[in-house]
Amino acid sequence: VTNAERYHFADFTRTNYRALLRLAKATYTLRGFDDLDRAGAWAIWRHDIDFSPAAALALARIEHEEGVRATYFVLLRSEFYNALDARSVAAIRELVALGHTVGLHLDPSAHAIATADDLDRAVDDEARILASIAGVEITAFSFHNPTEASLRFDGERYAGRVNTYARWLRDDVGYCSDSNGYWRHRRLEDVLRAGADPRLQVLTHPVWWQDEVMSPRQRVWKILDDHTADTKAFYAALLARHGRDNVDWE
Ligand SMILES: [Zn+2]
Repeated sequence: VTNAERYHFADFTRTNYRALLRLAKATYTLRGFDDLDRAGAWAIWRHDIDFSPAAALALARIEHEEGVRATYFVLLRSEFYNALDARSVAAIRELVALGHTVGLHLDPSAHAIATADDLDRAVDDEARILASIAGVEITAFSFHNPTEASLRFDGERYAGRVNTYARWLRDDVGYCSDSNGYWRHRRLEDVLRAGADPRLQVLTHPVWWQDEVMSPRQRVWKILDDHTADTKAFYAALLARHGRDNVDWE
């Protein structure tokens, strides 16, 4: 068996993403985190933006075309993008304009969190910054790279924002995630076809969904290369706009 087969590389195209979204719509009512009841049948469609707001926008447009509203969790402390730069702010605001919800993707390792009060403060501080970027109030948060220590905070809300890892969401709601670019537990297509989870939280990361079939490593490299190409073009345009030379050896 090749890696392409074992890790289902071909699942992770934007064309197949649309197909999976249609499958989800056929099986489930898609809800937001502030619109959940414990007994009903529904699915939550969640994205954590670890690498690229631009890649998030590509999925957001597909969802918009399919009439789906999702929740996008923005990381303020990513190693891979600056949530406050103009490109990111424009992308995040377009997510909102497309009808999606913006939540906070909180890296607990960036804060000293020993008590619920500490977590309240961390969530509130970052949610205020993100609200100023997104132009809307932030009503939910998800942990980035959650540890056992952070998952002990399993209350429904902190600083008034819904916790996507609340105890009941973990115990009473099925879960399917594409972390690291493959299906570590269940394959999303199987989960959606079976429809056996009365309630389901689907977590996808936009970085893993590309136009072409690629390995997970290639997908990350492409995101980084595209970002660098954009940044170089931005620099060249900046110099040109100010009538300066972009001096090289030749
Ligand atoms: Zn994350």
